[in-house]
Amino acid sequence: MRTHDLHIYNTLSRKTEKFEPLHPNLVGMYVCGPTVYSNAHLGNARTFISFDIVFRYLQHLGYKVRYVRNITDAGHLESDADEGEDKISKKAKLEQLEPMEIVQRYTIDFHTMMQSFNALPPSIEPTATGHIIEQIEMTKQILANGYAYESNGTIYFDVEKFAKQYNYTALTGRNLEDLLNGTRELGGQDDKRGRLDFALWIKAKPEHIMRWPSPWGEGFPGWHLECSAMSRKYLGEKFDIHGGGMDLAPTHHTNEIAQNVSCTHDAEPVCYWMHTNMLTVNGQKMSKSLGNSFLPHELFSGLHPLLDKGYSPMTVRFFMLQAHYRSTLDFSNEALQAAEKGFARLMNAMKLLDGLKTTNTSSVNIAELSKSIYAAMDDDFNTPIALSHLFEGVRIINSVNDNKETLSDDDKNTFVTLMKTMVFDVLGLKEENAVNTDKIDGLMNMILEVRGEAKTRRDFSTSDLIRDRLKEIGFEIKDGKEGTSYTITN
Ligand SMILES: [Zn+2]
Repeated sequence: MRTHDLHIYNTLSRKTEKFEPLHPNLVGMYVCGPTVYSNAHLGNARTFISFDIVFRYLQHLGYKVRYVRNITDAGHLESDADEGEDKISKKAKLEQLEPMEIVQRYTIDFHTMMQSFNALPPSIEPTATGHIIEQIEMTKQILANGYAYESNGTIYFDVEKFAKQYNYTALTGRNLEDLLNGTRELGGQDDKRGRLDFALWIKAKPEHIMRWPSPWGEGFPGWHLECSAMSRKYLGEKFDIHGGGMDLAPTHHTNEIAQNVSCTHDAEPVCYWMHTNMLTVNGQKMSKSLGNSFLPHELFSGLHPLLDKGYSPMTVRFFMLQAHYRSTLDFSNEALQAAEKGFARLMNAMKLLDGLKTTNTSSVNIAELSKSIYAAMDDDFNTPIALSHLFEGVRIINSVNDNKETLSDDDKNTFVTLMKTMVFDVLGLKEENAVNTDKIDGLMNMILEVRGEAKTRRDFSTSDLIRDRLKEIGFEIKDGKEGTSYTITN
């Protein structure tokens, strides 16, 4: 176990707190996963990449982490207020497919996207449809404890009753009166008693495809219930970290807490609530209706009117790490192009790392660099600051390579481990096109050989032409005592 001083910003307390897990060396983490009814979008990608960093860093510190991220494959209605159609059933009807065909297609799409971003798979990826029994059991328990009621085959959570004993809006700190005033008044059509009440179990209308038998007739679970039932099943009644996008806090997570508390009577079923911020495009909120949202594969291919060109998955991952997960992240061509250059600079330096020459003494302070990088990560996973220190590492690599700084044997070992661990294991960046690198290398060596022959013939106009043309397309040639080498500059 590494000694560390990890602090996490807790949405619940609105403070940055020292991280102390419930059980030494073990961490239980639950993150709300995607609803698999359409292609995964970039907002999802940002949230899950942020928690991938959390997962990776906790493991690096020596914790055994059980990371549970669900797949919502039933029960998520079009509106958070238990209205509209089930998102997956609607898409299935539209495409004349089985709901499970929709689920399969978009689960694969989601996994492919996460793989391209080099995100580690979670420890458990449970589905809502795989946990219907657990959800029915939890509904029964909430009913038995008196925090829910049945109305025409649907079971509603009684928010008013719950709020008399517990702080229903603890997570967001909103005023309950304001919340009530901002919610639609009930009409004669409504089965629920209170405006803020939400469904635990919903009676299936005749046309509803996805339905299961229950003590209250055929129906399906409400969306908030699955996360309560599955987090409890795999992580226990009280666990360390719960995360998701910040848009989930006011309703989904608030209701999750209410469900868990009404079963266990522990007012804080989760110790640390973590929320990731939103994406913007050129300063505007990214949304389908504004026409400024693009999908990950559009970002990779550049096939979108707002994009000048395509950007590789690792460029996008690097770009995302340049903003803290609790800040908004703004997409623009300029910012992505800058990230592309920055990522290439980092990777070029990483290639030089193993071959750095050592001397008896160091002119650089590697211990200090290490301290700064860990301090940034310990400060609520501050990746932009950690990256800025890693670029101090890049400066050191290039300076030692150019004989402007020196590195001792011991320092080199520490430095190589530090840089590789942070860049590859913790930040999850990787060299792209590893297969093609060999081919580029072979091709470049051939070109350099031809250029060398031209120089031997004293045909300097040809050798200069080759050097200048290579420079134009992003290959920098360096003639040294030990031969000619090249770097890719972009
Ligand atoms: Zn959830």
